[in-house]
Amino acid sequence: MVSDNTVVERLRSFFAPSVWVEFQALASKMGSVNLGAGLPGWPPPQFVTDALTRAAQNSTVAQYASPTGNASLRQTIARIYGSRLSCALDHHNDVLITVGASQALLLGCQALLEAGDEVVLIEPAFDIYPSYVQMTGAVPVYVPLRFRDVQGIPNSSDLYLDMDELAGALSPRTRMLILNTPHNPTGKVFSREELTAIANLLDFKCPRCVVLSDEVYEKFVFKGTHVPFATVSPSAMQRTVSIYSSGKTFSVTGWRLGWLITTNPKLMRQLRTVQQFVVFSVNSVCQAALIDVLKAADKPYQGFSSYYDWLRYCYLQKRDFTTKALIECGLQPVIPDGTFYMVARVSRKGQLGHLCSAGFPHMVEQLVERGHIEIDPITRDSKDHNLCRNLTILNGVTPIPCSPFFTPQHRIGNALAEDCVRFAFCKTDDELEEARRRLLKPRGI
Ligand code: PMP
Repeated sequence: MVSDNTVVERLRSFFAPSVWVEFQALASKMGSVNLGAGLPGWPPPQFVTDALTRAAQNSTVAQYASPTGNASLRQTIARIYGSRLSCALDHHNDVLITVGASQALLLGCQALLEAGDEVVLIEPAFDIYPSYVQMTGAVPVYVPLRFRDVQGIPNSSDLYLDMDELAGALSPRTRMLILNTPHNPTGKVFSREELTAIANLLDFKCPRCVVLSDEVYEKFVFKGTHVPFATVSPSAMQRTVSIYSSGKTFSVTGWRLGWLITTNPKLMRQLRTVQQFVVFSVNSVCQAALIDVLKAADKPYQGFSSYYDWLRYCYLQKRDFTTKALIECGLQPVIPDGTFYMVARVSRKGQLGHLCSAGFPHMVEQLVERGHIEIDPITRDSKDHNLCRNLTILNGVTPIPCSPFFTPQHRIGNALAEDCVRFAFCKTDDELEEARRRLLKPRGI
């Protein structure tokens, strides 16, 4: 008999295959253009692979790195982020290397939460957050992003967090808020004013609340600038663990290398204590390579003043191409100010409108029966799951449904959850063009 306080038991509601498992398998089975998962569709830049080759050949980095991370890497991060976060960072005390941002988020939950604590999540929320929170026995409390009334094509800046709703979600048991800017899946980039309002509310209502600020898309901002939450006030700096990743920025999601920064010694002590017994040490070769990568990225690149400027320019072209293509195909995109995702509504009136009423496809039924793919049975009647399944089968293009970014109780009747799908545009121009072509002309018609 399994007791009801084990991690596995706490994850009972997540037992079914996740959306990533189903759609990866379906896309590969159907040979579709996979615009589902957020992994760049090209190799890392040359300066990144060169740095990895050099690190791999350096025998002094082949053994375990320090549990807090390679000291030179922490020094480099402390220097760079000291300037980005406008504060002097000490590489001994303020920086910790993690297995991607995912493990930094998990570590934050493991080290800082207790069973019964409440954690505020802004919905839609990246789907690993609720599972990490629940693993610790803490309880997610959801606050929705709302849409302003807009004429014409909406932009991610038309989404806002209602401060009264946020205030209503805070309680004496609130221990943490997980913030994500730029935001997956909507692409919303929180402004300094919005972040300041959140920080002020926490000061007023919830002084003991820690903020895990997931800023992995910091370099993917097309309008305005990325504002790290920690920078909006001295108290925000004290309550924040800022989380970053090499994966998206340098097209190395497989390196699994991230880092967290906090100037709060008490939080860092708790984080380090858990980290040394969990992963013990993060991949030392990739850490050594990242030192050179971070140094090189600030230098002129391909005619731009830095690698980051080049990156932003390339992704902006892809965002604009994808916006145009989706509109051309009769979808209603929300234009993202950041990230490399685009949420789009499939309207009944558009040229793919017939898919809105198409149910669970027979082809998927057969693939499940033959054991080729697995699905979460509760998604059989989910509109957005079936939109993605039918788009994969009929058009050969795979987006991801948006409802997994909502807790099941909030999916029904929520326009962003039911009729919306998410396209990742971190793909080659050829793949994006092929997706456009296939969306315009379904296969076999
Ligand atoms: N946070 C967000 C918002 C993400 O979208 C992702 C990856 N999709 C991660 C964290 C995980 O980053 P990593 O690959 O570095 O673990």
